[in-house]
Amino acid sequence: MDGGVPGVADGEAEAVLGALRRGEPALWRRPGPARLEADRAPLDGGEAADAQDRFTRFAPALARLFPADGWDGQVRSALSPAPDGWDLWLKGDHALPIAGSVKARGGVYEVLCHVESLAGAAGVWAPGEPMLRLLEPAAVAALSRHWLAVASTGNLGFAVGVAARAFGLRAEVHMSREAKAWKKARLRAIGVEVVEHAGDYGLAVARARERAKTEGAYFVDDEASRRLFVGYAAAAAELAGQLRERRLEIGPKRPLVVWLPCGVGGAPGGIAAGLKRIYGADVRVVFVEPVASACVLAALAVGGGRPVSVYDLGLGNDTLADGLAVASASPLALDAIGRNIDAVAAVSDAAMLRWIARAWREAGLRLEPSAAAALAAAELTRARAPDLVPEGAVQVAWLTGGSLLPDDEFERLLAQAHALPPA
Ligand SMILES: *Cc1c(COP(=O)(O)O)cnc(C)c1O
Repeated sequence: MDGGVPGVADGEAEAVLGALRRGEPALWRRPGPARLEADRAPLDGGEAADAQDRFTRFAPALARLFPADGWDGQVRSALSPAPDGWDLWLKGDHALPIAGSVKARGGVYEVLCHVESLAGAAGVWAPGEPMLRLLEPAAVAALSRHWLAVASTGNLGFAVGVAARAFGLRAEVHMSREAKAWKKARLRAIGVEVVEHAGDYGLAVARARERAKTEGAYFVDDEASRRLFVGYAAAAAELAGQLRERRLEIGPKRPLVVWLPCGVGGAPGGIAAGLKRIYGADVRVVFVEPVASACVLAALAVGGGRPVSVYDLGLGNDTLADGLAVASASPLALDAIGRNIDAVAAVSDAAMLRWIARAWREAGLRLEPSAAAALAAAELTRARAPDLVPEGAVQVAWLTGGSLLPDDEFERLLAQAHALPPA
């Protein structure tokens, strides 16, 4: 292999890597029969139950902090049927409260864990007491003596910053060059310290980690945090409940196929780990990446279980999908779920734009490119690997973000979509 990438790829994997190097859409499939592999850090039932409990305990406090019409404080999204002809269910995390993206699961969950332990240590809350106590002046005063740091391409910093500030913590968000101006402005408006980096996401993480260490601050580590992972994983039980309510029984004859947009791999990894725990081999998880940032695809195709940098493949990590613009996968995510990822689809920015326009036109959905990637990937998977999506399978596209996009941002995306040549 050229490009300085360690490990060996077999012929098929080599062909997929070749397509990526040419900047073309690609689909990698786990070789061998569908069977559950033992991951090194699987999700245990205790962790999953703990996450659900914590979200439920915090619901009254979240409802108070983020008042919205009729919201009960539960971080949940709807499962809705897609328009005729899409043959999909849509998991609406683009409309999640607090953050308008899937980061309202992992990012907010990690803040809740941290706030709970700080409050316990400060003696302003004790296990068994209502979480509303955290909103009393004594608790807010105690919490406001602490700060945390996080690095982000935009959405994680947004979710963590907003949640941390709501409980009185100070927050420093290190943004990589992809981060959109409106996300930075909104964070600054609520008193978050935004540090801008000219480099990519990996660099922003390294800088933030360093700074948190020297300053003794808590660091939300997107490349290594178990709390983030577990917060995302809680979504699996939620989806399982929604499928049951609709009498969509999942089994060998009716598998579940889920498309999960992927940046470092934490969000899709956590959700996939949760789903595998519930459905075993009856769920097929397809991770979705932009061609230019296909770091999980690259790591799996090269093999060896370690992250691979997309720069070493000659890719630029330049994509419209800011939420997925990551050059190197999270080692934690690869360890925890890598061997159970059934397929990875790498889609073009043009396909994401076309789906943004179509989702708006046909379903009235406001999606960011990272979320539209799931729809583009479903199309690519059906075309290239129809056996992965058998007749009768229950198909779910995870729409990971977009409802908070300002009008002018969204209109710019629609204009870009309309300027594309016909597919
Ligand atoms: C962060 C993000 C993802 C992927 O999450 P990772 O944990 O980085 O893999 C997908 N979609 C959107 C909109 C995101 O913000």
